[in-house]
Amino acid sequence: MATLEIRDLHVSVEAENGPREILRGVDLTVKQGETHAIMGPNGSGKSTLAYSIAGHPKYTVTSGTVTLDGEDVLAMGVDERARAGLFLAMQYPVEVPGVSVSNFLRTAATAIRGEAPKLRAWVKEVREAMERLGMDPSFAERNVNEGFSGGEKKRHEILQLELLKPKIAILDETDSGLDIDALKVVSEGINRIREAGEVGVLLITHYTRILRYVKPDFVHVFVGGRVVEEGGPELAELLEAEGYERFLKAGV
Ligand code: ADP
Ligand code: MG
Ligand code: MG
Repeated sequence: MATLEIRDLHVSVEAENGPREILRGVDLTVKQGETHAIMGPNGSGKSTLAYSIAGHPKYTVTSGTVTLDGEDVLAMGVDERARAGLFLAMQYPVEVPGVSVSNFLRTAATAIRGEAPKLRAWVKEVREAMERLGMDPSFAERNVNEGFSGGEKKRHEILQLELLKPKIAILDETDSGLDIDALKVVSEGINRIREAGEVGVLLITHYTRILRYVKPDFVHVFVGGRVVEEGGPELAELLEAEGYERFLKAGV
């Protein structure tokens, strides 16, 4: 079973008055088959963690390690990370002019599988996955992210998960603009992918809302650029009831 290990990760960004440390020693282990939720207040560095693992050039790792089965993820190019079995939704371009969803997904699958999926079988695979997500078939012919609503972006993300079958998926739930129906579809998608027990999920979120539908095995409270508390699903319930107040005092 694949294991993603983050050890004492420190990350800085370039601010106006020099480098500013955002991640201050993150420790986290995610195994295939497990679902982890990272929960924390706005500005605590959750997205920075996701971007850093994705290899976003704006984020400089100053110390610490990220490994997948002992392999140095930080030394890998973005494509290599995907081939190694990491799924990082945000590593993909925001908009891909002139590239249809169908072609985009086939290119991604080709990169990961090492050979292009047979066209007919692929079209069928995509159609079936879209059906499961309640997506209109015409979606496959639209250009990637062009005019996508928040819900469509999320569905596209889950569609990628279903088709690319990563070992570890990192989903940064900005929780923005997802109405309750979209949230349910997305949650059902995540749960369906989890059922096979072959994916480890790191679900990053500010609100407890999605955790009513996707039950995490582990919850990590993230404050001031590091994990300050860990527990099971009961921790999410505590946060829902009380907010981050007590951790803010303890964490910074
Ligand atoms: P979260 O996702 O938990 O809301 P972020 O990771 O987005 O937190 O941001 C954490 C802190 O790092 C914030 O203070 C934010 O302003 C700062 N930050 C994040 N990315 C950048 C960047 N590219 N340049 C400058 N500051 C950044
Ligand atoms: Mg440290
Ligand atoms: Mg964020």
